[in-house]
Amino acid sequence: MSRDRYDAIVVGARCAGSPTAMLLARQGYRVLVVDRARFPSDTVSTHLLHPPGVAALRRWGLLDQLTATGCPAIHTYAFDFGPFTIAGAPGTPDTPVAYAPRRTALDQLLVEAAAEAGAEVREAFSVQEVLVADGRVTGIRGQGGNGRSVTEHARVVIGADGRHSLVARTVAPRQYHQQPPLLYACYSYWSGLPMDGRFQTWVRPDRAFAAWPTHDDLTLVIGGWPSGEQEANRTDIEGNLLKMLELAPDFADRVGGATRVARLVGAAVPGYFRRPYGPGWALVGDAGYNKDFITAQGMHDAFRDAELCATALHQSFSGTLAFEGAMAAYQATRDAQVLPMYELTSQLATLQPPPPELAELLAAIHGHQQAMDEFAQVMAGVRSPAEFFSEEHVRHLGIG
Ligand SMILES: Cc1cc2nc3c(=O)[nH]c(=O)nc-3n(C[C@H](O)[C@H](O)[C@H](O)COP(=O)(O)OP(=O)(O)OC[C@H]3O[C@@H](n4cnc5c(N)ncnc54)[C@H](O)[C@@H]3O)c2cc1C
Repeated sequence: MSRDRYDAIVVGARCAGSPTAMLLARQGYRVLVVDRARFPSDTVSTHLLHPPGVAALRRWGLLDQLTATGCPAIHTYAFDFGPFTIAGAPGTPDTPVAYAPRRTALDQLLVEAAAEAGAEVREAFSVQEVLVADGRVTGIRGQGGNGRSVTEHARVVIGADGRHSLVARTVAPRQYHQQPPLLYACYSYWSGLPMDGRFQTWVRPDRAFAAWPTHDDLTLVIGGWPSGEQEANRTDIEGNLLKMLELAPDFADRVGGATRVARLVGAAVPGYFRRPYGPGWALVGDAGYNKDFITAQGMHDAFRDAELCATALHQSFSGTLAFEGAMAAYQATRDAQVLPMYELTSQLATLQPPPPELAELLAAIHGHQQAMDEFAQVMAGVRSPAEFFSEEHVRHLGIG
């Protein structure tokens, strides 16, 4: 214990890592957070931050800083199913809107908040090895900008290092609810394509695409097809994207009159849950739990993990609870909160038409404003899909 220079070392400083470091540092712990990136730094991710993520920023005292960056608010989510569109308000009275901040802006703000809270931040620092002794993680070995190899020790090493987590690869946690990549999607930014505070998505057979506003008067457009088609589509990603947009001719016309200002970027990701703790280690964000991005839950899930994990570690460090008990509660809470959304997300990511019962229900939701708002809240992660689609609630809304 005496050689531990830090209480916690956090590997990765984006949506999961910086808030975890910030929250632990605010409790007075000695925290080191490292990232191989130098911020501001972009990453392969679109960045719709639903109201629960916005609420977390407000709780942490960071929302004003986000709005000061000039990021436009998103007050309406619209889901165009072809024959009808469900349009509703995604938020709650406290947090009525979403934002879609560029990751260059959001991640930088989070890194600065971690430093401000007292965490030591090392950018351009790459972790090459997670140190293990007697079955327990004890620290990291890595390299900073000067190329020198550095070793650091801590009571706990937290992997906030994303889907290809070195921490997870080292500790090889149990994985469950696994899914192969279901969907391939590509996205870019357009100017001259105003969205007037709306997130809009179009659902078509074997295709889904969406658009929403972000910084600098730009609009992000993303479109996806089943990952099984990727091999055939990869030689002309742009052509296939534009062909897909023609399934909504008005929108395709608007995109045709706008200007793409960045290159197209694409990805397909697997789904999994990983046990997020063990002797001397913890996982937060994508390192511990990942799902398809079609429902855009990743950033606020990472925020939730940061709060749950930091709380559990505080309970353990302060002697209120044993590490095992505190971290088991973190895992159980995470899993219970995200599983219904994970299942819905995995179903949507197949891009298959909804089963007939659900199709009927969606048609009934259309035009019923409370039901449309609640549907938008389900997709925003504000309201549980299990609760919303329950027979009792459907009856209560008078739509089933
Ligand atoms: C195409 C796509 C679209 C998406 N769209 C959305 C969306 O609209 N809304 C949403 O909420 N989510 C979205 N997501 C998901 C979202 O990007 C992730 O859930 C979120 O970024 C997870 O944050 P994280 O901090 O866990 O991991 P990451 O953002 O992956 O950050 C991990 C960090 O760890 C660092 N790192 C890794 N290994 C090392 C190492 N060995 N040494 C040092 N540093 C290391 C990396 O440099 C990186 O900065 C999308 C994802 C994809 C792929």
